Amino acid sequence: MFKSFIKNSKNLYFSIIPFYCAGCKKKCVDYLCKNCLIYLNAVKLSSTCKVCANHLENLGYAELENNYFINTKVLCNACVEYNYVFNSTFELFEHDIKFKTLIYAVKHGNISLLKYLAGLLANNYKSFLSENNISMPDLIIPVPISNKKLYIRGYNQSLYIAEILSKILNIPYKNNLLSVNHSSHNILRTQHLLNRNQRSLGLEYIISDKNFDIKGLNILLADDVITTGTTLNNIAQLLIDNGASSVGNAVLARTQMNV
Ligand SMILES: [Zn+2]
Ligand SMILES: [Zn+2]
Repeated sequence: MFKSFIKNSKNLYFSIIPFYCAGCKKKCVDYLCKNCLIYLNAVKLSSTCKVCANHLENLGYAELENNYFINTKVLCNACVEYNYVFNSTFELFEHDIKFKTLIYAVKHGNISLLKYLAGLLANNYKSFLSENNISMPDLIIPVPISNKKLYIRGYNQSLYIAEILSKILNIPYKNNLLSVNHSSHNILRTQHLLNRNQRSLGLEYIISDKNFDIKGLNILLADDVITTGTTLNNIAQLLIDNGASSVGNAVLARTQMNV
């Protein structure tokens, strides 16, 4: 009863006050219009590497031996170059010009849009798992941000993504298991200001909650954007070194690389 009241009120609200699609800026009734959603799905269905989410057609591929999250034995050139420790990446959309504004908005205070996109990611990921007969991961971990970024931004966008993934997939998430190693040298500059070689070092992370046991767990990392994958890879290595069985990623967007 209360739920239907909320739903009807929402519909009424949308019918009176038009929304503007966050993708194309045209009037619509939700955060994204139908055309933009179709576009998102088209990107999702296109041929991307299941390990790092780069486009296979740009990158070629090699063989991969065994993988918990995916059963296919395909590895792209980016995977060969970076030798990722994580073994899958599920992306909601491609981080192209059309959706640059979405990522900018989620990093700069539009939490409603962030939650909406996280919901889309979670539902798409859930369908992907069930369509491919892949088991659910055991635990979701949000990628931490530095204290400085947290102070400036006021929130960690990955934590919202982890919370919503946890709710929709019905598996637990653990915040504050990890933190950025603040003694590492490159945290003073934001990722996009670094050149590719500097960025490829990524941030360093430490386990901050040593009492939490991750031994034998299949872990899903939640983040907003994957670029070279080195940040997620550094975390995956740390988790594997501490006994995790496997690590995969769920991200809102992938910036395509030409390797
Ligand atoms: Zn649109
Ligand atoms: Zn790959």
